[in-house]
Amino acid sequence: SKRVAILTSGGDAPGMNACIRAVIIACQKANYTLIGYKHGYNGLLQQEYISLSLDSTHNLIQQGGTILHSARCEEFKTREGVFKAAKNLDKAEIDTLIVIGGDGSFRGAETLGEEWDGQILGIPGTIDNDIGGTDATIGYFTAIDTAMSSIDKVRDTADAFERIFLVEVMGRNAGFLALNAALSAAADYVVVPEFFESPDVEVTKIVSQIKAQRALKGPVSFIVVVAENVWPNGLNGLTEALQHHHINDVRPVTLGHVQRGGSPVAQDRLLATTLGEFAVSLVGSDITNIMVGEVNQRPVTVPLPKTWENAKPLNVARVDAMLTLMNERYNNV
Ligand code: ATP
Repeated sequence: SKRVAILTSGGDAPGMNACIRAVIIACQKANYTLIGYKHGYNGLLQQEYISLSLDSTHNLIQQGGTILHSARCEEFKTREGVFKAAKNLDKAEIDTLIVIGGDGSFRGAETLGEEWDGQILGIPGTIDNDIGGTDATIGYFTAIDTAMSSIDKVRDTADAFERIFLVEVMGRNAGFLALNAALSAAADYVVVPEFFESPDVEVTKIVSQIKAQRALKGPVSFIVVVAENVWPNGLNGLTEALQHHHINDVRPVTLGHVQRGGSPVAQDRLLATTLGEFAVSLVGSDITNIMVGEVNQRPVTVPLPKTWENAKPLNVARVDAMLTLMNERYNNV
């Protein structure tokens, strides 16, 4: 019978618990022993782990965060750290290590695979959706929903005062979250790295759209969604750039870590459950150093390096056509 270990690493994401639950149940059915390392790769280095059984699964599917806790781990980025992790896995007689995390976690897992003979399976868990080889990542759908609801609320107050709001949305260096949140909340403009030309070009477009709207409709609210890490100096930089065009009284809102929290939406629970079950089905096979993912509703395996080498295009159908709808009040008049 196999011994399986699981950990969650990097940015936490809603649905990680749902995935842990699926792995626990699938391991139980297959008669595998399952342990969970705490605090990402730190637990692996400190041999801090708990045994996971059906006792841990009740109500777990709906809980945000991760019961195993997550962490960044500098020591694991060193050769010595990776050697130590490999030794600890052997000591605990682990056959298969399952890593739920983002691209950083997968880079770590790939390095570990060079030093350790056991089987390594990655599961994509990040709100950013910035992982190649899978249509979506666990946590992404919930984060879109959270950002969308937050922008809806900003719209209420923006309308009341006919104000301009800048809303920063997470996503690391990818625009999936910002674009989809902006489209689903009908923001007026979106700034994402994939379409970013230069601060000058963008600010000129924003200003001309604000002016066009206001010329036609009088004072109206205007919401600009800005992906994090795109604008030099973030929302402050954009606020200043707008001031240079005599647009003052702009309100910045950074959504921040609320986007990481909350009970996962159904899509994330289903993806988490599918991928957890699929990963356990591969335990004991000679498939290793891969991530399990889902493409067109089919489970797939992806060599770990492909998950960060192949930048994924924004997964919005007809994205250009969708973007033209962003300024609907202007277009309709
Ligand atoms: P997210 O993108 O959602 O924040 P992530 O998995 O990309 O998730 P990172 O902080 O980039 O988050 O990585 C998590 C951990 O993975 C790091 O703290 C480190 O322990 C390990 N790691 C990252 N990159 C490497 C690398 N190149 N080599 C070894 N380990 C790495």
